[in-house]
Order: sequence, then C-alpha cells, then structure tokens
Amino acid sequence: MTAKFDYDVIIVGGGPAGSTASTLLAQKGHKVLLIDRDLHPRFHIGESMLPMSEPVFKRLGIHWDAQEYLAKNGAEFIDEVSGSSIRFPFAGQHQPYQVERAKFDHMMISNAEKHGVSVHQQEVVKDVNCDKEKVTVRTDQSTYSAKYLIDASGRSTLMGRRNNSIRRIENLGKFSLYTHYKEVNAEAADMLFETGDVKIIIVDIGWFWVIPMSGRRLSVGLVVQKETEGQARGPSLFERYFEASPLLTAALQGAEREFGIRAEADFSFTNEARHGLRYACCGDSAGFLDPVFSSGVFLAVKTAEAVADRLHIALVDGCEAEVGLHSAGDDDYLIGFNSMRLFVERFYHAGLVRNLFFVAERSKELKEDILGLLAGDLWTGTNDFQHKLLRSRQARQLMIKQSKES
Ligand SMILES: Cc1cc2nc3c(=O)[nH]c(=O)nc-3n(C[C@H](O)[C@H](O)[C@H](O)COP(=O)(O)OP(=O)(O)OC[C@H]3O[C@@H](n4cnc5c(N)ncnc54)[C@H](O)[C@@H]3O)c2cc1C
Repeated sequence: MTAKFDYDVIIVGGGPAGSTASTLLAQKGHKVLLIDRDLHPRFHIGESMLPMSEPVFKRLGIHWDAQEYLAKNGAEFIDEVSGSSIRFPFAGQHQPYQVERAKFDHMMISNAEKHGVSVHQQEVVKDVNCDKEKVTVRTDQSTYSAKYLIDASGRSTLMGRRNNSIRRIENLGKFSLYTHYKEVNAEAADMLFETGDVKIIIVDIGWFWVIPMSGRRLSVGLVVQKETEGQARGPSLFERYFEASPLLTAALQGAEREFGIRAEADFSFTNEARHGLRYACCGDSAGFLDPVFSSGVFLAVKTAEAVADRLHIALVDGCEAEVGLHSAGDDDYLIGFNSMRLFVERFYHAGLVRNLFFVAERSKELKEDILGLLAGDLWTGTNDFQHKLLRSRQARQLMIKQSKES
C-alpha cells in the first residue's frame, strides 16, 4: 500500500453487504475500514435467508449456533380465502436459517473485525469524493483517504442519492407494518418451529410474512401493495388483517408483542449508477426489491462477494481506478436482480399467483424451477421458468427502460 492512502478500501455500512465485502477483502490482505453509523447489535428487519447465501457465509467463516438461529426448511404460500396452499421444501445441500438480525448482523460485523477489518461504529459518513487520484470520505469524526469506496449503506443509498440515480419501482409493495412476538406457545404454532418454514399468507391488499425464530419467537409483517380503504396505513390496518386470519390468530394466541407495530415505506428501487470511478455499490444500495421472496440479504451478500472479488484482482493489478471495472460483472447482477424483480411482479398479478403457484404442484418441472428461484439459484442458466420471465414482454420493457436510463 502506498503511504498516500489511509486505507485500500473504505466501506460505508456494516450490514450484511458491508460486513461481507470487508471480510473478503481483509482475508486477501487489503487494509479495510468499515464505518457504520449504528452500534451493533441493533434492530433490523429482514430475518429470512435463502439457501444460496450459504456458500458466501462459508467463505466468511461463519459458524451457525443452533441455539441462536432456527434452520429454515422451506417456504409455504397460503391463501386462506380459497383454502389453497403450496409448500416449497429446501432439500438441497445448503442450509438456510431464520435469523434475528440484531444478533446476525452483530455476528457478521464482529467476524469482519476478527479478520482484520478496522471497524468504526457510531460514526456517520457525511460526504464522499471519488476522483482519479483517490477516494476521500468525510465523517462526523474525521476524514480518510482510500484507493476505493464500497457503498453498502443499505436503503440510505449514499452514492445513489449523491448521483441522483435512484429510480422507484412503482408496482411492487408500497409499505410494510410489522412486529415481533415472544412466548409463542400455542399448539397451533408448533409446526412453524418444527419446519422453520417462512409462511406467506396472501390477503386482498398484499401479503403477510410469518417467520419463526429461535426461542419460540415470530416476526410477522403485512406488506401492502394495493390502495387501502381511506388510504389507511397505520397499525389499525395490521390489526384488521391480523384478526381476519385464522392462522395468525390461532398461532399467536397468548403471545406477547415485543414492540408496537413499526412501518417501513417506499421499498423497491433500482440504482442506475451502481458503480463508477473508484466506487461500487452492493446490497440494498445497489437496488432493493419487495421482500416477498426474502431475497434482500441473499442479494446483499452475493453482490458484496462479487464486488469484493473483482476489486481484489484490480487492487493487486493496480487498476482499481478503471471505470469499467464492474461493467461485465454488472450484467450478472442484472440477471439475478431482474429475475427476482420479474418474479415478484408476477406474484402481484393475482390471476398469475393462482395459476402459477397453486398449480405448480401439478408440474414437477415448474415446481422445481420456482423452487430454484426461491432458493436463490439464479445463475444456473437451466431454469426454464426463469428464462420465460427474462424473455417476457415485461422483461423487454424493463431492458428498454434501463438502456434509456443509462
Ligand atoms: C419490510 C422488510 C422486510 C424484509 N424481509 C426480508 C427477509 O425476510 N429476508 C431478507 O433476506 N431480506 C429482507 N429484507 C431486506 C433486508 O433487510 C435487506 O435487503 C438487507 O438488510 C440488506 O443489507 P445491506 O447490508 O445492503 O443493508 P443494511 O442491512 O440496511 O445495512 C446498511 C448499514 O449502513 C449503515 N449506514 C447507512 N448510512 C450510513 C452512513 N451515512 N454512515 C455510516 N453508516 C451508514 C446503516 O447503519 C446500516 O447498518 C426486508 C426488508 C424490508 C424493508
């Protein structure tokens, strides 16, 4: 490393993306600074993992404690009104988990530190400048220089806001209302903890997630996609739909809420400038999708892995200032992101859910293809359903829009 830089790489954000990228780069001997404005452990929503994240966790040297995390064995989609349901069991070689994010994110950032990353918590990045010579990062406490910047700032989208490159995706979920429950002791909940499945309950305005966690706790959230009566957005909307669900009321009888109903709005966007001179975005800061298929942490760790691997080679070769460093890799990102995006769009097309999910049981091939997407197996090139998604009219329109925007 040349003396004119404080670090090889500065990473903004210590969520799954930032912790992954920083650990992989530190493992290769680079000098890395990770800055997070929070102090871990801290609350974060998003507890359900996908199987194909597991190879990344292996590379990071993460060890799963069975007391802390619940093995997840599948995903079940339920329509209580029609009585239809379908379960997609994960029986592959990779074991996913349901995680309490405070513990999981803390484990990931501590693991980064163990691998030699300098971790600064409770420090807020205020401004960054990337030019031909170097990256300069100004925080509320100091100013640092580096050869490269990774933006893993999540939905704060540090570089996206700076470049004015965030584009909302309008037709997916609009907002979410959620809480955690403890003492989930009703017999009706036993199956949830035995299978560790995530359950998606379809309702007329969107869907509920039900995610079991260790210690008989549940994360329950309502994602709203459609217009609501009088544009209701508050906790009473959650209560109304909760009370109308036989599954939820039975499973949560006698359980206690750990906190009041919280809300998250405006999710689903793309970032049209995911990489540029001496910087790259990964995780939510590169783009974020409605969480119906639990793809967030998976895409976060996969994009972080890809960015870190390319950057490692560039740093070794001394060509990290090349603007096209991530161009080819970005095509791979788009295959994964757009597959998931089109899949989510299909999910919100009510007729298609009924004609696709609930009939998948009749076709072994279709069920396996859907299972592949639900597992995060997005780059096999052999998934017919994924090919159809990517060839669809929607996909063509998406590509045209993206090429006009870039
Ligand atoms: C309602 C909802 C439900 C979800 N459910 C799931 C799910 O079941 N499964 C799943 O996989 N995903 C889910 N997600 C998505 C998941 O939470 C995210 O995709 C994931 O956290 C992305 O990781 P990340 O590292 O990119 O960002 P984050 O985890 O958000 O981390 C970003 C970090 O950057 C830090 N930061 C931001 N700005 C600054 C700054 N200026 N200076 C310093 N630090 C900064 C923040 O403090 C934060 O720690 C859900 C999301 C929502 C909204």
